Amino acid sequence: MRFIVKNNRLHPVYEKTAQSFILSNAPSIPQPQMNTQYPINEDLQTLLQGKQLLHDDLTHPYELIQEHYENGYLQYRKSIAFEKNKPVCRRCGNTNPSLFAQFPCARCQEEACTYCRNCLMMGRVSSCTPLLSWAGPIIPPETIDSPLQWDGQLSAGQKKASNEVTQAIMENKNFLVWAVCGAGKTEVLFAGINEAIRQGKRVCIATPRTDVVLELAPRFKKAFPTIPIAALYGGSEDRHLHAQLTIATTHQLFRFYQAFDSLIVDEVDAFPYSNDETLQYAVQQARKPTSSIIYLTATPSEQWQGECRIGKRAYVTIPARFHRSSLPVPGFTWCGNWEKAINKNVLPSSVKRWLKERIDADKQTLLFLPKISNMKKILPIVQTLHPKVAAVHAEDPARKEKVLSMRKKEILILLTTTILERGVTLPNIDVAVLGAENRIFTESALVQIAGRVGRKAEAPTGTITFFHYGKTRAMVRARKQIVNMNIEAKKKGLIDD
Ligand SMILES: [Zn+2]
Ligand SMILES: [Zn+2]
Repeated sequence: MRFIVKNNRLHPVYEKTAQSFILSNAPSIPQPQMNTQYPINEDLQTLLQGKQLLHDDLTHPYELIQEHYENGYLQYRKSIAFEKNKPVCRRCGNTNPSLFAQFPCARCQEEACTYCRNCLMMGRVSSCTPLLSWAGPIIPPETIDSPLQWDGQLSAGQKKASNEVTQAIMENKNFLVWAVCGAGKTEVLFAGINEAIRQGKRVCIATPRTDVVLELAPRFKKAFPTIPIAALYGGSEDRHLHAQLTIATTHQLFRFYQAFDSLIVDEVDAFPYSNDETLQYAVQQARKPTSSIIYLTATPSEQWQGECRIGKRAYVTIPARFHRSSLPVPGFTWCGNWEKAINKNVLPSSVKRWLKERIDADKQTLLFLPKISNMKKILPIVQTLHPKVAAVHAEDPARKEKVLSMRKKEILILLTTTILERGVTLPNIDVAVLGAENRIFTESALVQIAGRVGRKAEAPTGTITFFHYGKTRAMVRARKQIVNMNIEAKKKGLIDD
């Protein structure tokens, strides 16, 4: 599509002429005055409010969309803009030149129409495609007196966090909840979301992983049974559902624009959110100009920890687990050049002893390794100690089945890469990391791995051991973080042991 300007409005034209231009090259995009006599299409209003979509995302005729623009109810924005001759994707915030490409485009008849590769999975945005947003009045949300129907109990630590989250949501502030692994951070959100929905606010919980969306959606549907809840991830069916509560992967936020009064970002430290600036951009785009952001994490980055310490970042900690037992503290065991040893089909003696003790006690264990190649090497060696040994990694198609077998106790020792560092709760296990000095084991990864131990109230203890060939800063910081949380919890009377 190309445009010309007529009567201070954009008009789509289909021929390439001297006057017609592609949207990226428009010096500015005029926004017509709202015509209150115009009969708006409510379907379009529902679909477009709080969103930034492409023509391809809608089934409505171009003419109807254009009419809504001309009558001031719809906004056209450039999807690709050029700043200092460099492309910027306005949908995902990408500015990396290597993530743009060009193609001969039938729509605008340009030989080289620039498009963004970074957000291609959400449909192609190119120089000639406008981002469509609603500019008219929004559909007032239903106010529901008390949508929360949950009668569970919060721990003392959760209660404090819950009150502060509610306050931050009400006051449109940014706030961090730093909750140890197993603290129960989901329940901490209930009261604040309840209050927001009562006031007709729109809330989104965004998380980096689809698994988490699938796990959270039924829990929230149970807690808030009377309100529609949209669960959004690649391929989900709720894509066009306008809900007061949305649970989405961070990637899905690329379709939202000034939509939410409160945005809750889960696992801010987790891949891919933590190292993808475009996902952080998406969070900023999806929030309303006046809104709150609640960040949840068990392991804030070093920078954020520093900001908390000097009072630059508002936060609350939940330093203890729901079951009131302290966090297992990692032990460090030097094991020499373990890589060299396993390449000679020998286990370092300390590791062998550790495994044998667990086998004798019939205690299930997780052993983390830095690389798949290490895991493949070590698997047959460990299998000589016991038959019930398996290995799992990110590309393993039988990943889910193996975790399930572990749950059913069909596996005694499960070797794993960082794939199981978070999100997995196995009762009564011991955990070790072999090669904890490897760079893949960041402070945050090590705290998460340690957080696999002792999660259940019926088995609140267990051991966590870092086998290493030289201590790293990440190891030391991870242990310190855990020790500090235990000290804080003790001081606040949140643990009993
Ligand atoms: Zn993009
Ligand atoms: Zn084009």
